[in-house]
Parts: sequence; C-alpha cells; structure tokens
Amino acid sequence: MKSQFEVYLRLKPSNNQSQNAMQYQLYHNKRLQVLLPRHVKFGLVNNSRDNLEFNFTHVFDQKSTQEQVFSTVTIPVINSFLDGYNATIFAYGQTGSGKTYTMSGAETWQLRGVIPRALSYIFDEIDKRTKFQYKIYISFMEIYNENAYDLLEKRHLETPLEQWNKIALYEDDQNNIHLKNLSIHQCNNEQEGIDLLMMGNFIRQVSSTPMNQSSSRSHCIFTVTLEGCDTTSETCFVSKLHLVDLAGSERISKSQVEGNLLNEAKYINLSLTYLEQVIIALNERMKGANRQHIPYRNSLMTTLLKDSLGGNCKTVMISTISSENDNIEETLSTLRFSQRVGQLENEIRRNEKVDLEAVVKRLEQEKLVLIRELEQFQRGGNVNSNNKKLQTQQQMLPLSNGPPLNPKEISEKVELYLNERISQLDIKSVEEAQLCFEAMKDLYNTRMKEYVHELTFISEKLQKYDELLTRKKEQSSFLEQKENSSPEVEVYRRNESPQINLKKKPNQ
Ligand code: ADP
Ligand code: MG
Repeated sequence: MKSQFEVYLRLKPSNNQSQNAMQYQLYHNKRLQVLLPRHVKFGLVNNSRDNLEFNFTHVFDQKSTQEQVFSTVTIPVINSFLDGYNATIFAYGQTGSGKTYTMSGAETWQLRGVIPRALSYIFDEIDKRTKFQYKIYISFMEIYNENAYDLLEKRHLETPLEQWNKIALYEDDQNNIHLKNLSIHQCNNEQEGIDLLMMGNFIRQVSSTPMNQSSSRSHCIFTVTLEGCDTTSETCFVSKLHLVDLAGSERISKSQVEGNLLNEAKYINLSLTYLEQVIIALNERMKGANRQHIPYRNSLMTTLLKDSLGGNCKTVMISTISSENDNIEETLSTLRFSQRVGQLENEIRRNEKVDLEAVVKRLEQEKLVLIRELEQFQRGGNVNSNNKKLQTQQQMLPLSNGPPLNPKEISEKVELYLNERISQLDIKSVEEAQLCFEAMKDLYNTRMKEYVHELTFISEKLQKYDELLTRKKEQSSFLEQKENSSPEVEVYRRNESPQINLKKKPNQ
C-alpha cells in the first residue's frame, strides 16, 4: 500500500505586533503565500517575484491549539500504528520555532504536546480493542554530535555525558538494524509512559551544560513499540511509532559560533544536511531517476530513521516556523525542505507474524486429545467429549416405531447409544439386530477415518510449524551470540517488569 508523506506546517505565535511580523496569506489552511521582504526579494536570482507559495496537508495558524494539532495530525497516524503499521512523526524547524512545544509541550498539562497525548490515546484505544492482547514498550534516545545515548538509563542522572555508554548499531544479514545500550521499558499504562517521558526529558536537561545546550543541538527519538496478538487466532504484529524532535535546522553560517560549539553546529548541520540528501535522493528515485543508493549511512539519525524515510513506514512531518521577518531566510529554507518531503511516498505493509510458539503449543494439545480419543474409541469407550455433559436418558428406546424399518432412523438411534445419550436399545427382531450391527460398523469406520484424517492434518501442520520455530530459534540465538561477542558494548537490555495484562490498569 502506498502512503504519501504528509507535511503539516505550524506557525509560532508572533511575539509582538510590530512591523517585524512576517507578511503572509493563508488559503484554505493548505496553501501559504509568503510576501518577501525587500532584502530577500533582491537576493533571489529571479527577483521579479514578490511572494512564494507552499502547499501543505494542513497549515496550523498562530492561534492553533495543542489539541487541534494532536487530533488532526496524530490520531490517524496512531490508528494506523495500532493496526500494525510503522509510523513516524517528526518535527522540523529552526531553534525556537516550536518543535519541542509541539512534540512534548509546555509546562502545564493543558499545553502538553503530541507525545503525552499519543500515550493517553494509545492506552485508551487498546482498552477498547478487546479482541487483541497488547504489550507496549518504550525507549527514548538522544543523538548528539553523531553519538546516540539512552535517555532512560537512571545511571545517567549521576554521571556526566562524557561517561555515558553510547548506543551502538549493527545491521544483520537482512539489513535489520539492531541497537545495543538502549533500554526498552515495558509500560502498562499511560502514567508509566508519561513518567518515562519525563525522566528522559529530565536526563536530557541535566546532561546539557550551558556550554552545549543540547536541547537545540540534539535530535530526540521517543519510540513506542507495540506487540499485538489477536486472541482468537495466533496472528500477532509488532509496530513501531517514532516521535522525533529534530535539532534546530538553522544553517551554520548564521550561528556565529566558535570552538566546541562550532564542532557541534557542524555535526548538527551535517546530519540535517544528510537528511536533506536522503530526501533529495528519494525524490529523484521516485521521479524515475536511476538511484540505487540512498545515503542513509552518512549519519546516525538517517540510519536510525531509515525505515521512516524510505521504507515500511507511514511518515508525517510537522514543520514549525517563526512568524517574524527576522527569521525569514530560515523560514523559507524550512518551507522549501517541507515541499521536497511532501512529494515522497513510502510503501507500507502490516507487520504481521504468526505466533509460532502458541500455534505449536495448541496443535500439540489438540493432537494429544485426538490420540486419547482415538485410543478410547478403539477400546470401545465413549469419546464424544462434547456429549459428556449431556444427561444419559436411563430409558429403553424402541429401535423403531413399527414397520417399515428405516435404516436412517436406526443409525441415528445407534449413534445416540454409542454417545451414551441413551443407555439401552430395545431390539425386537433379528432383522433389527442386523441393522443395528450394520449401523455400528458404518459409524465406527466413519469416525475412525475422521480421526485419522484429522490427526494426519494436525501432524503435518505441527511438523511444518516445528521446523519454522526451530529455524526462528536458531536465528535469534545467532543474533544473541553476535551481541555477546561484541566486546565494545554492553548487551542490549530489556527491563524485567512482569508481563501484566494491559487491559487492567493497575492505578484504576
Ligand atoms: P524549538 O524546540 O523548536 O527550539 P520550542 O518548542 O522550545 O522551540 O519553543 C520556543 C519557545 O516558544 C518556548 O518557550 C515555547 O513554549 C514557545 N512556543 C513555541 N511554539 C509555540 C506555540 N505554538 N504557542 C505558544 N508558545 C509556543
Ligand atoms: Mg527544542
């Protein structure tokens, strides 16, 4: 299924009503026309234009609320995530334009942003979807100077950034990316999710010294992983939702920085430049150019978001811009970048998988029951477990209600007798006895055939799934070995919280 990238624009409210405000027109909340100030107009190659136009899925004007942004942008994305599709929402824009405000929100609960609202929505929805059993995991990382760090590692509260373990990446034979040193936290309700978000944001804040002010110079990726299992069949799926707050997109020439800060700025600008290169390459490929190579690997952020950018993922971008003319160059650069992103599309599919372990377990049980029934049947006992609950009628049932004898009627009564629904058959003649034996023989043969047929079917299925399961186990132990053999990094951890049924919120 094709999924076009959606690009939304959000204008930050203007600080003042002075002449400094950007001049623009908004048409149907979809098209933004920016009137170019003189100095920009004369900088253009073709300076005959005095305005530029940009199209969006939707434009949120300066008065838009957090709730409006959430319901328009996020709800459709999360619904598709809950259905088993990967999804990414990322915020792009210059520092101070409202990325963090949009994604995390401001201090008050009312002004909370996309991430906390997404958590509430996810937990509410999975409570409603009773046909599925869900498990939710959260991880939160920061990419800073081309290094990635776990924001949910409590030890980071006491140690400076320089001593943190870096997250390491490696790719397996199937080009899947695996991460080490990133903790994954099972999360049983909205509050636990919010606590993790707050802890991550806190760790991010304490790690940023006035020197590095990491908040504007780092990318943050909050990832929700959903495991859903259909309780009526054995189909399960795993989907991932990345909520990304990118570093400020301002160009290096504008930020007059030196020394360490210059280094940082280079890194940040580089990773956003690489992001742009990936988008350009994807655009060219979409337009039919022969572009096999997409330069994801040039930066950590593009490697990590490889799927979001050109793979199996529904991707949405929220571009944030300032409404002041002082920032017009950065604003135009954000708007141009958004237009390129808006042309992309991804091929998405549901990440469905069969829970082999559960199927094998069920089939083994079914097979055992069948074998037991077959043995019992061969010994002549009653095997119809469904009928056990039914009361046997302690009565003699006349085989026929007088001539002519009806073989079908006799067969039905014999079946009742075999199933112990009646205790005796009242046989009045040799002819009746013969018909009875015939009916018994037929029933026996048919039932034997049915059992054998069912057993063969289940055995074949079992063998197939057993093989698949063994192969799957071999693969995962191979990956584990690979993880353990890597000397430079710690083994990737899953926190050991017990698996609690998400349907029961502990705090309610
Ligand atoms: P960024 O993350 O892009 O650097 P922030 O989200 O930190 O920018 O926003 C900078 C400041 O502007 C913050 O104080 C934030 O609360 C405020 N702000 C941003 N966008 C909005 C908005 N849409 N409405 C009200 N205040 C906003
Ligand atoms: Mg920010």
